[in-house]
Amino acid sequence: MSPSTAEPRQRSLWGWGYADRFPPAAARRQVGAMVSAATGIGPLEPQEPAPEASIALAPPRVAVPAELTDFTSVSRAARLSHTHGRGYRDLVRGFRGDYAPAPDLVLTPRTEDEVAAALAWASRAGVAVIPWGGGTSVTGGVEARVGPGYQAVATLDLAALCEVATPCAVSGTVRIGAGATGPVIEHALGAHGMTLRHFPQSFEFSTLGGWVATRAGGHFATVYTHIDDLVAAVRMVTPAGTFATWPLPGSGAGPSPDRMVLGSEGILGVITEATVRVRQRPDRRASASVRFESFEDGVQAARAIARSGLFPSNCRLLDRTEATLNRVPAGGRHVLLLGFEGVGRALGPPMDEALALARAAGGTCDEGPRFRDDDAAARARGDGGAARESAAWRAAFLDAPYLQTILVSLGVLVDTFETACSWQAFPALDAALHARVGEALRRVAGGGVLTRRFTHVYPDGPAPYYTFIAKAPPGGELDAWQAVKDAASETLGEHGATITHHHAVGRTHRPWYDRQRPELFARALASAKRELDPAWVLNPGVLIDRPE
Ligand SMILES: Cc1cc2nc3c(=O)[nH]c(=O)nc-3n(C[C@H](O)[C@H](O)[C@H](O)COP(=O)(O)OP(=O)(O)OC[C@H]3O[C@@H](n4cnc5c(N)ncnc54)[C@H](O)[C@@H]3O)c2cc1C
Repeated sequence: MSPSTAEPRQRSLWGWGYADRFPPAAARRQVGAMVSAATGIGPLEPQEPAPEASIALAPPRVAVPAELTDFTSVSRAARLSHTHGRGYRDLVRGFRGDYAPAPDLVLTPRTEDEVAAALAWASRAGVAVIPWGGGTSVTGGVEARVGPGYQAVATLDLAALCEVATPCAVSGTVRIGAGATGPVIEHALGAHGMTLRHFPQSFEFSTLGGWVATRAGGHFATVYTHIDDLVAAVRMVTPAGTFATWPLPGSGAGPSPDRMVLGSEGILGVITEATVRVRQRPDRRASASVRFESFEDGVQAARAIARSGLFPSNCRLLDRTEATLNRVPAGGRHVLLLGFEGVGRALGPPMDEALALARAAGGTCDEGPRFRDDDAAARARGDGGAARESAAWRAAFLDAPYLQTILVSLGVLVDTFETACSWQAFPALDAALHARVGEALRRVAGGGVLTRRFTHVYPDGPAPYYTFIAKAPPGGELDAWQAVKDAASETLGEHGATITHHHAVGRTHRPWYDRQRPELFARALASAKRELDPAWVLNPGVLIDRPE
């Protein structure tokens, strides 16, 4: 079948990714056995998601306005598929057939003029508008939970604004539509030998607009991994007009207008396009894996490397349970995955220096580093050892969301939380999280496991990322999740660690974000919102509240 006649691959209504990646019960039972063996929780029995036909959906509360009919849908399929993000709460509600927060309308504008028309209508009609990129928010950012005072809720999906222009080979920048997903962007840039080099774990389905709106973090451990550093200019349509910045390599002209859009999470306007910095695809890679008997030694190694100025592309410390669950061979020890990459530069010297620092902290690297001139050559050679470990880790990284979906169907309480703190603060924070989250898991689920890794490392501190796993109390999954989430979030705040390093604030993190940000900043943000969105229709409940 030619690509033009092929049926589009069906997305799961409730779970991560493609529907055909959700295995039958027998295969899920095997996954359950593997997880039970690694964590001690279980037994885990597969359950089936609520049949789509059984899902109750209230009729839309507004009629489709005449001027928006060309790009507006009230179909059951459109409304259900735009109800939930992809956090644990979303998966559980979707699995159980709870679609109560479904939007009334789904708008899919094809031009900036259509975005402007939608916002004008919504402002007049008192309809809340939720910008939607890939819908991969894990913090309730795309959920139609908008509070009182709105006639209805419309979700505005940017999927049609997904053009990738030809990159400027001189400056290394390119204009990309907000709705372009990771694979669309990399495919288009690949034709020019370029890459944006931004790979969040949600890469397959999340979008440039969503990344900018949430200040997403990619999977590289140091430098140029946040979308913040890759954005040269943005265009954002607001109810008050279009907000467009100049593409500049840098500017000291007052507070940065780009920075006002970055992290605005859909409350100030609809990002329609960004000009981003792209680069040549790396042709050299080096990788190594260093094992540690003690996690603390691994922390010292990661710290030394983060402060060395070597800036590895990968510097991921996984504790032993995390390594087992991610199928990283670590011989029951903690493991630091190191990587360097570049275009035409020798990677031996920085790798040797990094390994010396890791060994000085007590690590062992039995197999030594692996070097690849390029991916094709490495594949042809059937490279092994550390390169294979690193590849196994990357594959598991992008597959992990599918695993979470399977675990939800096995009745597992499984979610992650992430933060950043100083090196000085980390040991006490980590100990407190194990104590408090451990206590919460015992209280609500009779016990469970908390694993950790560093996703990013900075000279002044790590970005630790935790996963909690327990057997969910049947029917009480969401209360149990909330109790564990509260324990973790309170502990982060008490230790001066951020409520989120890259998962955004959304609606879920509001109580802790409100305590973290200065009160005067909240008032200034509210004033900016009032100017750009006078009817306060854009994503109410996210970042700040509507004034009385
Ligand atoms: C399995 C999984 C793995 C993840 N891994 C990572 C990771 O590695 N790094 C990371 O940073 N995040 C990660 N996330 C979180 C999420 O993918 C990011 O927040 C991502 O940036 C969201 O992009 P999206 O296009 O899906 O946006 P959505 O989820 O659709 O929206 C997110 C927020 O941005 C707003 N928004 C979206 N598009 C626009 C727009 N064009 N204009 C204005 N506002 C807009 C929405 O209203 C919402 O508030 C992960 C999520 C999942 C489920």
